[in-house]
Amino acid sequence: MRKLAIVGFGPRGLHSLECLCIKLSKEQKDKYVTITIFENEEDLGAGKVWNVNQPNVNWINISERALKDLSGREKIKFSDFEIPAFPSYKKWLPKKDKNLSKTIPDKFPPRNKVGCYLIERANSIISVLKAHDKIKILKAVIVNVDFKSDKFNLTSLDKEIFIFDEVLLTIGHQTTKFDKDVETYEVQSLNRKHTSFSQVYPLKKIINSDKITSETNIAIRGLGLSMIDAVRALTIEKSGRFKILNKKTFESEFISSSNVAHKIIPYSLNGLPMAPKPIHAKMDEIFKPSKKQLKFFKKSIKGVANGKKETNGNSFLMEVIAEIGSEVYLNLENRISLNIDKKGLKKIIIILLEDDSYKHDLIEDSSQDTATILASFVEMAIGKRQISLDYCVGQVVRHCQPILYKTFSHAKVTEEIISEVIKLDEQLKRYSYGPPIESMQQLLALHRAEIIDFSFAANPKIEHKENGWKFSKNGKEITVNTIINSVLSAPEILDVTAPIIRNLLKNDIIKPIHTKLGVHTNKNGIIINADKKEIPLAVLGRLAKGSVIGVDAILECFGPRIKDWAKGCVSRL
Ligand SMILES: Cc1cc2nc3c(=O)[nH]c(=O)nc-3n(C[C@H](O)[C@H](O)[C@H](O)COP(=O)(O)OP(=O)(O)OC[C@H]3O[C@@H](n4cnc5c(N)ncnc54)[C@H](O)[C@@H]3O)c2cc1C
Repeated sequence: MRKLAIVGFGPRGLHSLECLCIKLSKEQKDKYVTITIFENEEDLGAGKVWNVNQPNVNWINISERALKDLSGREKIKFSDFEIPAFPSYKKWLPKKDKNLSKTIPDKFPPRNKVGCYLIERANSIISVLKAHDKIKILKAVIVNVDFKSDKFNLTSLDKEIFIFDEVLLTIGHQTTKFDKDVETYEVQSLNRKHTSFSQVYPLKKIINSDKITSETNIAIRGLGLSMIDAVRALTIEKSGRFKILNKKTFESEFISSSNVAHKIIPYSLNGLPMAPKPIHAKMDEIFKPSKKQLKFFKKSIKGVANGKKETNGNSFLMEVIAEIGSEVYLNLENRISLNIDKKGLKKIIIILLEDDSYKHDLIEDSSQDTATILASFVEMAIGKRQISLDYCVGQVVRHCQPILYKTFSHAKVTEEIISEVIKLDEQLKRYSYGPPIESMQQLLALHRAEIIDFSFAANPKIEHKENGWKFSKNGKEITVNTIINSVLSAPEILDVTAPIIRNLLKNDIIKPIHTKLGVHTNKNGIIINADKKEIPLAVLGRLAKGSVIGVDAILECFGPRIKDWAKGCVSRL
């Protein structure tokens, strides 16, 4: 009997268990393995990201329409019992939430709603496996994994030791060393006169802080999705309210309360805001490449991924994005009208991909102030403004991403090329991972209410003073007494601070695929260690970034990598 441990039981741990059981049943090998799960969270299947007790202000950035791709689980038949099927997210939704018309604005649920789905799904498999004594669930944090004499020794925080033949790590997002400036704010706030939050989550820490009052000026480092959650926490959770003035565009007015902070100052290195997703399915369709174009995209990526086509960095990806992006743009009815042909457009796209501050009449001018850019993108997303080339390309890329992630993972190319591809994907996330329009309308409403001030958004000068941090930009100044860091650390394995990873590195069991990326794994998740000897330790998810492209979204947790792992795991029985 082979002993398997699954460490971490968020969405990926859950789907790994499902795929494993499906494969075990198909190969009639369920009697050959015992399964133990290590997880410290109360609710299995959701992890911290999808925790059901988090406030409603934490929204998912994928629409319920796009979550249609979160497929269900088939019925699993073992020789002596069955695990029932579980519906897809779309089927699980109550009827009132099922979006029927293509012109109804997309819905973006709070993360806790998706959490309910995941927990229900996890309970439906765990309860049956438990009833048949097929699984052990241990509430523990694993801090060390060592491999000796063909066995894994797992040590928990309580210093208990467990022995296994095979281990799967699905431990998701792990904190890394803070950036230098965040570390500095932490040290500077030790005097307790002013406050720094080194991370946004859990939001309750910020919401419940007695340091935040109506007198407080708060700076938020980062202009991404977590900044928006933090802003909602600082407004809605402080008894403020957004009144929607127009249900079709989500244009809103902010009704403040006496608990809301005086000023909120978001900032980043370039001050560029994210671009919201198109308002509804019909609007989104105009950016969707045709089947032929998607086929071409796949073919172009595959050639390089197989090692058959030579490339210089990520130029192959820029080339194919420019090819499809220019075709889609030329087909848009509501585009900026300039007499320019496909060849000209391609050229502009390539320059833009190389330099996102590139200025051109077809591109939203990045030197404008943040609120103006934000308002322009909102108008494009609702169809009220001519669409800029950069907005179009970002949406086209979003439609191509699943193919890129699937086709380029475990590509037979150099680590530098992988790193360049990831860099371009990250750069485009400003558009492709964009938030709901409603989020952006909330930011604009707060800007009109003079609570959010974007004057310092682009790389302000920050000086520590007796009464807080002085922000200056273009002759304007403001002193803030709280800084919140909303930038999520990248999964650079060498910078992860979690003991389990530190120890795996120290024990020479894992190695990064690239100094700036995650763990080196092969297609079925098994790690490739320093001396290239294969040992049955698999890493799936964010920490394998580099080996796998595209690890961050919930849909990826239910993607093909997990099936590959299960196949490999069962083949070793
Ligand atoms: C703040 C935040 C917001 C996000 N928002 C979105 C979003 O809107 N849309 C989207 O698609 N994706 C979002 N994501 C991406 C998210 O990571 C994935 O959707 C998904 O949660 C990844 O699942 P996972 O199981 O790989 O990791 P996780 O969800 O992180 O789960 C990992 C599990 O492992 C457990 N664990 C960790 N270390 C140990 C240990 N040492 N011992 C035992 N157990 C351990 C944790 O408790 C957790 O339950 C967000 C991520 C973050 C961090």
